[in-house]
Amino acid sequence: MRVSSKTRVCGLMGDPVEHSLSPAIQNAAFEALGLDYVYVAFTVKQKDLGNAILGVRGLGFRGLNVTMPHKIEVIQYLDKLDDTAKEIGSVNTIVNEGGNLIGYTTDGIGALNALRYKEVDPSSKKIVVLGAGGSSRSVSFTLAEKAEELVILNRTFERAKKLVDDLSGLLGDSARIRAGRLSDGTLKKELEDADIVVNATSVGMNPKSTETPVDRDLLHHGIVVFDLVYEPLETRLLREARREGAETVDGLAMLVHQAAASFEIWTGEKAPIEVMMKAATDKLEKNG
Ligand code: NAP
Repeated sequence: MRVSSKTRVCGLMGDPVEHSLSPAIQNAAFEALGLDYVYVAFTVKQKDLGNAILGVRGLGFRGLNVTMPHKIEVIQYLDKLDDTAKEIGSVNTIVNEGGNLIGYTTDGIGALNALRYKEVDPSSKKIVVLGAGGSSRSVSFTLAEKAEELVILNRTFERAKKLVDDLSGLLGDSARIRAGRLSDGTLKKELEDADIVVNATSVGMNPKSTETPVDRDLLHHGIVVFDLVYEPLETRLLREARREGAETVDGLAMLVHQAAASFEIWTGEKAPIEVMMKAATDKLEKNG
């Protein structure tokens, strides 16, 4: 890799970051476009967050991705948030514009573009989102603007209710957005006429890859199953959905598209999606 005395630095900060796919994805994209940028992963403990941001300012980094556990906490150190990051209350991308640090969130647009990449249009559809954690929040805010009906089901009902209240407060028209408890009964009722189901829980993620949030009997031809989990790449949920004749969208598509959105914010260039997808797949295979 070529690093010059003018190389612009981007990076990832979080804890842990050792197994992140982001350096492979971003550096492949910089290289493909011949951009003099480099992307490095930094382990940043919670107590060091403020100092890390001072470092970004002092050293003039071009941008950062922010991951767990800093996505909310980091907001207090920034100069400005874009509207979506403000509404969602979470930041995963920072750009340094002449000393001003501006926060964005690209998870929602990443999910939307992952669907579009697979030629799935969420407009005017019934979408059921499983989970009400950080990723569900980003994805639900983005999809709620497109969907005809959005149902958020969560193991802890109160979290789903809070998310629905926040969404309804922002978008109005609360009848289209409902909360429920994640159970076989509610899944059976809601998936019957659903167009898209999104797994935004961590169920099915390695090492518990034999688990699934949706019983195979509830999956059917005509439903799109989108799993945010990307380790393993084909989760049990996606495997069973495929066997039932459903369309599937995997979590790697979202990871790459949210990375692409960050790349475009930092560089102003169109992201080379296929290069990034290949780098992500290769790295995932290498990680085992
Ligand atoms: P999070 O904030 O910790 O939320 C976890 C969610 O999973 C909560 O809704 C939780 O329900 C639910 N959950 C956990 N264990 C469960 C179980 N045994 N049964 C039912 N529900 C359960 O996590 P997150 O950041 O949203 O991430 C969720 C998943 O998305 C992770 O696998 C992560 O890797 C993946 N992700 C992928 C991308 C991507 O780009 N593809 C991006 C972000 C996240 P309670 O509220 O009841 O605890």
